[in-house]
Amino acid sequence: MNLSSPKAIEATRIAQFLRQHGYSAYLVGGCVRDLLLDREPADYDVATSATPQEVIRIFPQTFAVGAQFGVVLVPVFRDTDAGERANYAIEVATFRSDGAYSDGRHPDEVQFSQDARMDVQRRDFTINGLLLDPDTREVLDYVGGREDLKQGIIRTIGQAHHRFAEDKLRMLRAVRFAARFGYSIEAQTFAAVRELAPQIHQVSHERVRDEILKMLTEGHARRAFELLDQTNLLQQVLPEIKKMQGVAQPPQYHPEGDVWVHTLMLLEGLPAGCSKTLALGALLHDVGKPPTFRVAPDRIRFDGHAEVGTKMAAEICRRFRLSNDDTGQVLSLVANHMRFGDVMRMKDSTLKRFFRLPRFDQHLELHRLDCQSSHRDLGLYEFAKEKFHTLPAEQIRPTPLITGDDLIAAGYKPGPIFKELLTAVEDAQLDGKISTKEEAMELVRERARELA
Ligand code: ATP
Ligand code: MG
Repeated sequence: MNLSSPKAIEATRIAQFLRQHGYSAYLVGGCVRDLLLDREPADYDVATSATPQEVIRIFPQTFAVGAQFGVVLVPVFRDTDAGERANYAIEVATFRSDGAYSDGRHPDEVQFSQDARMDVQRRDFTINGLLLDPDTREVLDYVGGREDLKQGIIRTIGQAHHRFAEDKLRMLRAVRFAARFGYSIEAQTFAAVRELAPQIHQVSHERVRDEILKMLTEGHARRAFELLDQTNLLQQVLPEIKKMQGVAQPPQYHPEGDVWVHTLMLLEGLPAGCSKTLALGALLHDVGKPPTFRVAPDRIRFDGHAEVGTKMAAEICRRFRLSNDDTGQVLSLVANHMRFGDVMRMKDSTLKRFFRLPRFDQHLELHRLDCQSSHRDLGLYEFAKEKFHTLPAEQIRPTPLITGDDLIAAGYKPGPIFKELLTAVEDAQLDGKISTKEEAMELVRERARELA
């Protein structure tokens, strides 16, 4: 087991320090699981018999984030290679057992305990219930977690139905861990999720969103969504995606199958660490297809699906309380995804304006995934990519030939007409028809006469 990373060293040191003060202390949970799997843990947690007050007394610079749950953050300051002080925190939690859960998410009260064995019983899955002795590096397993890690099984600690009834978020965590590690979900655990899935709404939209975003960006999004579907959670958290199932597509463009299969293929193409907006764009780009499905005389059509889909995506982003920035980007990805079909016919001005969309690289990548997940012809993608990367920035966004001030100086009255005139001038410039201020003013006079 490799405990040589700076964070592992700090966490071990904190646990040892607690022991030197006479308390019991272990590394616990996800970090032990990851260390056994030879994966770098995202964060380290320490569990101890010391109460929050005692932890705060031992470590001077702590902050009690969840003191009522017995959680204290011990900050770590370290010098990086660059010489700056970076900091993070190790979570130190007092051994506890949780009381009754009446809101379907949080325990009404917690009871601190002296016993590590008791503490692991409240944790969610066996693979997340392992303890690591900081002195001997021995793993303590009171829940059968090592065997489940070996077999690749997600299994609740204790009776599945009871554990999911306590905290519904665990249902999404089960899917997320199964997808991330490529594990199966044990039969009773699986059956309990299927049964309790309609109660996932007791979890806040923000927490559901965070789980879904992790599933989408950890590199196993397809598996995650297949499991969401099989556990009945998909119908609850994203009914708009569930509706894609069985929605046929024209085979000449979509030999892969229905809208759901197509979407799963895009998800399969999302690499670990991909941006959440690209991931949501991929998930939602065809969300407007089910409601626009129509069998026309020539073929199946989805007229206006990008526009309808943009509205649906807006509702989903709102439901998920996504930031305005991220929502804007997701909606732009959905709204513009069909425009690649025209890139070869676009006027230069149209193409250049297309390229000006914020984070155009994500539009390109979504289009590549879209093609790869259907007809596999990357002609339009290669064309757009080549143009986008070879056109100098000065040509995509050239310095304007004239501004509103020039129009005022020439005697025009400010108003809506200004935007029209300046756009016409910019179009002509982007199309390479004009390149001087004189030509621009000549064009203004022509257009003003037409508009008058
Ligand atoms: P990740 O790699 O995503 O951080 P993790 O297992 O470390 O996974 P955390 O959310 O960091 O998950 O939680 C740390 C530990 O706390 C878990 O391993 C588990 O033991 C316990 N835990 C977290 N959330 C729950 C929950 N909802 N119910 C029960 N135990 C939980
Ligand atoms: Mg963690």
